[in-house]
Formats: sequence, structure tokens, C-alpha cells
Amino acid sequence: MTIVPARIFSYLFLSVALVFPAFGAASPAPRISLFVDASETPRKIFHARMTIPAKPGRLTLYYPKWIPGEHGPTGPIQDLAGLKFTANGQALPWRRDLLDGWAFHVDVPVGAASVEASLDFISPAGREGIYTGGATATDRMGVLNWNDVLLYPEGWTSDELTYAVSVRLPAGWKFGTSLAVASQSGDEVKFAPVSLTMLVDAPVISGQYLKVVPLNPGQTPSVEMDIAADSAAALEAPADVWEHYKNLVTQAGVLFGTQHYRDYHFLFSLSDHVAHFGLEHHESNDSRLGERALVDAEKRLLGSGLLSHEYVHSWNGKYRRPIGLATPDYEKPMQTDLLWVYEGLTQYLGEILTARDGERTPEQFRDSLAYTAAQLDHRSGRAWRNLQDTADGVPSMQAAPPQWESWRRPLDYYEEDELNWLWADTIIRQQTHGQKSLDDFCRAFHGAPGGFPQVKPYTFEDVLSALNQVAPYDWRAFWTERLTNHGPGAPLGGIDGSGWKLVYDETRSEWVRSREGDRGLVDATDSVGLLLNADGSITDTIEGMPAAKAGLGPGMRMIAVNGRKFSSAVFRDALREGKNSSSPLELLVENTEYYNTFKLDYHGGEKYPHLVRDESKPDLLSDIIKPR
Ligand SMILES: [Zn+2]
Repeated sequence: MTIVPARIFSYLFLSVALVFPAFGAASPAPRISLFVDASETPRKIFHARMTIPAKPGRLTLYYPKWIPGEHGPTGPIQDLAGLKFTANGQALPWRRDLLDGWAFHVDVPVGAASVEASLDFISPAGREGIYTGGATATDRMGVLNWNDVLLYPEGWTSDELTYAVSVRLPAGWKFGTSLAVASQSGDEVKFAPVSLTMLVDAPVISGQYLKVVPLNPGQTPSVEMDIAADSAAALEAPADVWEHYKNLVTQAGVLFGTQHYRDYHFLFSLSDHVAHFGLEHHESNDSRLGERALVDAEKRLLGSGLLSHEYVHSWNGKYRRPIGLATPDYEKPMQTDLLWVYEGLTQYLGEILTARDGERTPEQFRDSLAYTAAQLDHRSGRAWRNLQDTADGVPSMQAAPPQWESWRRPLDYYEEDELNWLWADTIIRQQTHGQKSLDDFCRAFHGAPGGFPQVKPYTFEDVLSALNQVAPYDWRAFWTERLTNHGPGAPLGGIDGSGWKLVYDETRSEWVRSREGDRGLVDATDSVGLLLNADGSITDTIEGMPAAKAGLGPGMRMIAVNGRKFSSAVFRDALREGKNSSSPLELLVENTEYYNTFKLDYHGGEKYPHLVRDESKPDLLSDIIKPR
């Protein structure tokens, strides 16, 4: 089976023909058997055994390096252990490639027709790591990503290789996956053989507490949520939570007009002991939040948008994919220049779907949009780095720490591009006098024919041409400007054009309060240009704003404010009181075991973002977020 239709295949992989000279059409592609013993998931160790057809001579095997959706060479090679090769019962020597740590060379002896490979994948403890290299196992649940536990032979594309896989789960655990089950005996599950492409695209969630929620009962293709949590209580969300996710399936269906999956599984982990992220697949997504993300209203609000974002990726990212990301295997590097479509448009659609499906009220949606706009309005890194470079540079910036985020601006192709796509949406509406919207673009670009998962790559020109077919406009000039400008300030044309304005006042919105409360933050980005943790440690300062100008920087810790011990309330009070005082704000700060006093001559008070209606323009934003 192949995920890439033959006609795309032929031109897409022309350029890589030279990489694979060893095998001609005469050799049948290997069929590899893979057994994963996941019964020690609570110990965070997974044991894998493979039988790989081979010929005598040198065999090169790869551990997957460039993982789809991760946008970088993030295959967790550091967590591969216990590697061993045998043939006909005899141990084989192996050596890692000197230039590529993800490649292993094995000498296959005369008389051998296959190699047995065994390896362990060690999942990080705590909440370490990201994506498929992130913490994935707890005492009560786990997610198995197949790229973590396998090798594949050089000379074949991931579409050509077939894997027959089975897994042993911890005793009594239930599971969910988009893979077809061939048979099950006790805790051992055998899946129907699939291509390596589809295997890596189909993780398995399992756990002692696993809840299955049908999201479109009786309909085809079926969509369900398979949720594993660290407790049974975490699964008991109020009824409207499930209604919102059912609405999400309906609203996405209306938006795109069709689906590119046979069935779809939201694989949802609720644990404080796994890495938190979302990773998209054609027929599922691997999304992970804290244990109480569904039952606690504040956490539910903050977590809204994750599942809608990952679901949108089934259309935008998996089916329609930038040509530089549609690679033939996991070894060829990806080119990430079109992530502003892959991730930026997904961010925009995922966010508006949270309002269309009811996860957020219109006010909560606007507060969240205002927050995003305000963050980008104070993005100092815009001065040195344009938006295009944030997409181009991401493969080499995967491990960027949170400090200096504003100056580094590592991932702005998500949020800044949410504002840009809103802008594009309003332009389409204006140009067509309200007859068309970005919904029409999505139906045309991401819609029919639907059905079995396929990849249809695109270029920048394809995006421009599809936009022009919906609404003729100088889209090349628009996107070139959006991708290469240096501001100043956030791109607010979409907010302005949709009948709203970004303003700042002294009242924290529900969104800002929830975010600060849940994450233990004090967000003074928009007043003095300072982001603090609740213990006073400074995560970020905004270059050019009062805190940075006074000498504060990430890594320092605020000890006292105007002579009183720091707390978030004391700091906020001081900002507010500074409005009616001519004395500067006096901050005692610890920096690498030294104490210093900094004076901020700031009298602007607290500043928090909101959107207010601009009555001189039609309210397009409310129409954009209305359920279809
Ligand atoms: Zn994404």
C-alpha cells in the first residue's frame, strides 16, 4: 500500500534517485516483521525485535531521523539502547556511521537471508523532551510511536517497505490506534501489515484507564476519541465537553467538504508526567495535556485549540503538504520554508474552529486573539529576523529554551501567521463583496476527492494560484510583504479589517488570568516588557522596553519591589501605583549570586490586551467564528 499516489511519486522522488542506486526494480521490497514488547511501559522501556530480509555483504539500517510533523532531525537517537544484530543465531558486529549517528552498518555473513535486530527505546522520565522523543510513559498509560522502536534498511522509500507489527501491552491495558487490528490474544495485538509510512503515521495509545468517545455516531468515516489518563476521574468531563468535540468534527467537515481518512482517532493523553504537545497524523493525532485538562474549567480553556489544530492537520499538512516536507524516507532532510502555510494556516483554522464548535465563547476567542496579537506587537526579534526566516530556520532550532523568546522569535510562523491568515480572510471577503471567504479556499485547496490517505504536495505558486481562483488579488505582493517585513509591530490588518481594534487597559481578561494562574506566570510584557515566573525568576525581557533598558534580563530573579518581598500581587500593585507617583519602580534582583537594585522610570500602569469593536466597519470577525 502506498500513501503517495504514483503520479506524484514519479516527479517528487526524481531528485533522490541517486541516493538509492543499490536496488533495482527487480528486487522486491523487503517485508519486515516487528514485535514490540511494551509490557514494561511503566518502567519507561520498550523492547523491539525485528526480522529484516538481507543479502550477504554490508547492510545499512537507519533509525528514523526526520519525523513528519516535527520539522527537524529529532528522531530520539539518544534514547536507543540495547542494540544487537544476529543472523542464523550468530551475533554480528556493527558500527555507527561516522557522519550520521542515525545510521548503522552491519556485515551480513554468507548464507544469511535475514538479520534479526533488537533494540530498546528508553522514554525520558519527568516531562522531558518533545514530540516522539518526549516523555511518553507513566504508571498507568503510554503512547507508542513506531519511529522510536524500529530500524529500516537503506535503498527503499518508506512507501515501499512493508511492516508486519505486533505489540504486547501491560496486562489488562486497553488501547486505541488508527491501525487495523488483525488479531488479539490477551495482551498481544497483531496489526494488519502496512507500509512504513503508514506505520510511523499511526501511534498506539494504551492505558489502564482508557475512554472511547464516538464523535460522530453512526456516520462514515467514523471519528472517535481514545483518551488515556493517569486516573479514572480525569476522564469524567462535563457533557458539553464531548458536545464541543462532536461539533468540531461537524464544523471541520463543513469547512473542508470531505475527509482524507478512512476512520479518525483523537489519541488524547491526560497526564502530568508525559511531554505536552500535539503531533498530527493522517488518521489520528497524538495530543497530550495535563491530567485535569478536561475536568478543570481553567485548564480546559487553555487547552482548547490543541485538538482542533491537530485535526486540521489531517487536511493541511498531511494531505496537502509543502513539497519540501514530502520526503521519501526519514533520512532525507526536510525543507521547511512553507511552514507558514502548514502551521500558520492550521493555527488560524484551529483557533476559529474553537469558537465555531463552542470550546470558546466569542469573547474567549477574542481575548485569546488579542493576547496573540499583543505578544507579536512586542516581538523585539522582528527587527533582525523576518517571518520567513522563522520557518526556514526551525530544523536547526528545535532545542531553543524559553529564555529570550522575544528576541529569538523561534516559532512565530504559528501565531504571527494566524494574524496574517485572518488578514487574508478579510481581503477575500472584501474583494468578493462578502461572497467568498477563506472557507472557499480551504474547500478548493484541501477538499475533494477525499478518502484513502494521500499526499498532494504544493509549492508557493500553488498557494498563490489557489488564492487567486477564490479572489483575484496581488497575493504575491501580500505574502512577500508579510513574510519579509520587519514591522514595527504586529500585522494587525486582519483584526482592523474584520471590524475590531487591539487596545490595552488595566483589566486582565479571563484568558490572561487563566494563563497566568495555570502556568504560574506574571505577564508584564505589554507594560514594562517583562515575563516572570511566580517565584520572581525572569523568563524574558523585551529589548527596547523599560525592564530591558534598565538592565534586567532572563535568568535573573526579582527579590523585592519598592522594598517589599516580591510576589505577583506586590509587583502588580507597584505597577499600578507607579501611575500616580513620580518615583521610579525600585527592583532588588538576584543575578548569579549577586544582588543589584534596578530603577525603572515607568508610570504607564498595568497593560493587558483586548479587542474592542470598531463601529465604522462591518463585524467580519463575528461572522468568521460563527458556526456553519
Ligand atoms: Zn501544527
